[in-house]
Amino acid sequence: MIKVQNLVKHYGNLEVLKGISTQIKRGEVVSVIGPSGSGKSTFLRCMNLLEVPTSGQIWVRNDEITSKKTDITKVRQHIGMVFQHFHLFPHMTVLENLTYAPIRVKGKTKATAQQKARELLKRVGLADKEAAYPNRLSGGQKQRAAIARSLAMEPEIMLFDEPTSALDPEMVKEVLDVMKGLATTGMTMVVVTHEMGFAKEVADRICFLDQGQLIEDATPEQFFHQPSTERAKQFLEKIL
Ligand code: ADP
Ligand code: MG
Repeated sequence: MIKVQNLVKHYGNLEVLKGISTQIKRGEVVSVIGPSGSGKSTFLRCMNLLEVPTSGQIWVRNDEITSKKTDITKVRQHIGMVFQHFHLFPHMTVLENLTYAPIRVKGKTKATAQQKARELLKRVGLADKEAAYPNRLSGGQKQRAAIARSLAMEPEIMLFDEPTSALDPEMVKEVLDVMKGLATTGMTMVVVTHEMGFAKEVADRICFLDQGQLIEDATPEQFFHQPSTERAKQFLEKIL
């Protein structure tokens, strides 16, 4: 579903990604973990060209998104992204948040978009919140609404950048549960997270980034029990 080859990203003189290569299969759940500043967000943002790689190639589905010939807007329709902060449209109800892009971008009718939106709200446990404005929701509810809004575009890939980092502790689980549910549907997911429980339990694979390098690309079993690098061992000792 995604193939990354020799991805390099510079910001001025700063080399943030130093030649990353990996592949993500359809239906796979990959957790990207690593110290702060190691390049996790940049790596994720390159996958939908929110950041333009300095060099290297990325394929999404069958399109090389790093090729100038590719229409990135089209490819992005297959990729949902959820950030640490929720970015819901504040002046729209929850239902309108979910139906806006499907109607505007995908040309769905209002009725079809609303039906799909209600299904999704039910799935994330927000069936009773469709008429609420975002400022009336808790952080966990906002994040679940943001996930549902991404899903309303029927993406084939979901990218998550620390979706629970801005939440109060008691709300983390409700969001992780929604993500777990999504993983069981066969969604291809790339999840930057500090939630090691989620990474262990849900991810098929762990990508460990350190100083812009992908230094471990392993199963959770391998990574958590027998990391092959000293840097991963030190990281795990600090956080576990
Ligand atoms: P992580 O998500 O692992 O914390 P980031 O990908 O956000 O790491 O950042 C990696 C490095 O790139 C950091 O040193 C950060 O300061 C730098 N960086 C990120 N975005 C920019 C930017 N837009 N301009 C300049 N430097 C940036
Ligand atoms: Mg980050």
